[in-house]
Formats: sequence, C-alpha cells, structure tokens
Amino acid sequence: MAMQTLSMLRTEVKFRFIEYLKTSKSPYYEPALTVCPCCGQHASIVSDFMWSCTRCGRQGDVVDFAKEIHGYRTEAEAVKHVCRVLGIKICFLDTITADDLMDMQFPDNQELIEKILGKGLYLLVGASKIGKSWLVLWLAHCISLGLNVWNLKTKQSDVLYLSLEDTHQRLQRRLVEVSGGETGQLTIATDAELLGSGLEEQLSNFLHDHPETKFVIIDTLQKIRQLKSDCYSYAGDYATLTALKQIADRYDLTILLVHHTRKQEATDAVDKISGTTGLIGCADGSLILEKEERLGTRGSLTVTSREHPDMKLLLDFDRDEKKWKFLGYEDLQQEEPEDPVLAAVSILIREQKCWKGTATELLSLLLKINPTLFAKPNSLVRKLNAKTKELSDRYGIHYATQRAENVKYLILEAVFDNTDMCDISDIRPGA
Ligand SMILES: [Zn+2]
Repeated sequence: MAMQTLSMLRTEVKFRFIEYLKTSKSPYYEPALTVCPCCGQHASIVSDFMWSCTRCGRQGDVVDFAKEIHGYRTEAEAVKHVCRVLGIKICFLDTITADDLMDMQFPDNQELIEKILGKGLYLLVGASKIGKSWLVLWLAHCISLGLNVWNLKTKQSDVLYLSLEDTHQRLQRRLVEVSGGETGQLTIATDAELLGSGLEEQLSNFLHDHPETKFVIIDTLQKIRQLKSDCYSYAGDYATLTALKQIADRYDLTILLVHHTRKQEATDAVDKISGTTGLIGCADGSLILEKEERLGTRGSLTVTSREHPDMKLLLDFDRDEKKWKFLGYEDLQQEEPEDPVLAAVSILIREQKCWKGTATELLSLLLKINPTLFAKPNSLVRKLNAKTKELSDRYGIHYATQRAENVKYLILEAVFDNTDMCDISDIRPGA
C-alpha cells in the first residue's frame, strides 16, 4: 500500500469540488457558480475544480476554498476538513515537531472582555427573568464604546444584537436606561430566521457588509433552533452550535448565545446548561448567571473557558440603574509569579522604550540586569514566543521578530507610551 501524503490527498479531492459544495451545503448554483469565500459575491467554477472571482480577483481549488471559508491556518487543516466532508479516510497523522512548535509566533488576540470573552462561541446561561437580557444589553453597550466591563478591559467593536424575544418599543426603553441615551455602533434585530433555514445566510450577509462587527449576541437559542424532536439530543445541540461556531471562526469574531437553564435545579454549574452536554462541548466558553434568591438582587457569574482557569464574579443587580454591579471575586485571584526573564525585559524596555537586536545581544543586556538568569539565546527566543501575550498584558511590551539578510532580529517596544513612539527603522541593530 502506498503511503498517503498531504499532496496526494489534495490531488484526490481536487476534482470533487462540486461534490464538496453540495455535501457541505455550501452555496452552489447550476451550471457552475458558487459564492466567493473572500468577498461573498458570485464566483464561477472553472473547469470543475477552481473557483474564480472577477470581483476580488481571488481564485483557488477546493482546499483553498475551505481554508478561506473556515479560516484554517494551515493547508493540512483544510485538506483534512475536505476529506472528512467527502468521507475520505485520513491515514496520515498531522504532526509538528516540538522544535518547530516553539519557534512559532501566534497573533496576540486581544480578548473582547479580558478573561471573560475571547473569540469564538460563548454561552450565557441563566434562569428566565434573572436579568440576562439586561446584562447582554449592557455588555453590547460597553463593547460598542470600548468601556470597561466591571473592572475588566474590553476591545471596542461594532455590535450586532439579535434580541429575538423583545419588541422595538421595549428595547428602546431598556436601551435608554442602560446607555443613558448614547451608545456606539450597536445594531439591533428583533426578528431572524431559524438556524438551517436562513439564519447562517442572514448573519453572513450582515457580517460581510459590516466587517467592523466583531461581537454578535443571539438572545435566545430557543428562538433560532428548529423544534424537531431530535433537536434536544446531543447530536442536535452539537450541530446547532457547530453552525454558529463556524460563523464565529470564519469572521474571526465572538458570538454570545443566550440560553435559559432547564427548570430542575442542578448543583454543578455546568450541569445546568440544557439537558445535554452537547452545548458545552462545542462552545469555547460559558457564562452562568445565577441569583442567590429568586426575588433578591445578589447573584454571581461563573466563567468557564478554554483559555483561563474558572472564575466566579459576585454581582448585585442595581434595580435603579438596571445594571449588574461588581462586588468581587469569590476566590481571590492569585496573580501568577513573575517570570524573571520577562521581568528583566520589562526593566530594559522601561529604560529604552524600544529595542532591536539579536537574541545574543538581548541576552547579554538581560544578564547585566539580572546575572542569575539561566538561558541560552535560542531558549530566550522561544520563551518570548510563548509569552508574547503575557508581555503585552502584564508589561505593555509589544514583541515581534524580523529577519534581514539571514539574521533574526527581535523587536521589543513599549506600547502604552505612544507619545514618543520610536521608529524602529531608525534604530541600528543592537543599539
Ligand atoms: Zn471574491
């Protein structure tokens, strides 16, 4: 048996483009038209294997198409996806060496709400009438203006709020109460189609026309899922959320899906989500809103995500301002101990504002600051690669690398001090 390779698989799927479009329920129109994954306009399918868009000029085969539409980082991920859709058995294991992994640099994705909402699909769960809608409307307002949420930093973005259990009149009243009459780029819809019957297309069209929108709230799940008998099964839930997660990934944004908890009281917070665990399995994180007593104002928000340890915020609903106010954390958040290498980098950058040079040069400067550091130039680079986010969040230092004439330069600059930002090109290497 011949060994299967990535390029063999890519050749195998190449002429099954139209079959892929039909099986994956991607748009396909006879005789040979699809929708361009880059610009969303009609694109022709040339010679049965290539999409070609006259509007944006992009083209490619089925693997490029899948990579673009689902936002895969690598060719291998896109090929595997296409094979799964077409039912082709994948016999090679997609691997990376530890050395290559440590040399990779990932983009520093700033979270929408620090430690609470990253990119992807998140669930907000709570009993009905507990104050979920007040909470999401306030979150929408804060994000649209880039205001802090409680004491947590946010990333400003345009917001789309599907408030499917409300009327325009009621929303108007709520919005005035929450925002005081002024808000950012917040767009609202009170009516939408069901998932699988038009909602995906409605969202795609909106997001294509409003690329600045990076936060979508859907209130509630019950209003968008098909009420067929199999829909509350694990498979039904998983399929529902997968469709939304694909949209979040494809448009590189956050979707917050509001869901009522079931009536029976479950003790574990995660247990309270729906009758099945399918919802949690597919989401990138969940927020569970609870009250101590049904008629009281004290409550809590339990945050579970893949990126951070679980945490519980204690809240109090202010009935006059219609806002959940922050009281504190249930468990005191212990700050991680400082990494001595990062601490030395921060001392260096506090003095120099920005620095460019090789790893060897950086190491010798850091050793002057802290002679007890134990590192080699190569392991120093790998540490910076892995801690790019901590450097930026904790110390306000932006880290990047640059290759020129076969020499790898490290660039470190203070990001908060933008009054006299230095121009990196002016700095001589190692200065
Ligand atoms: Zn196009």
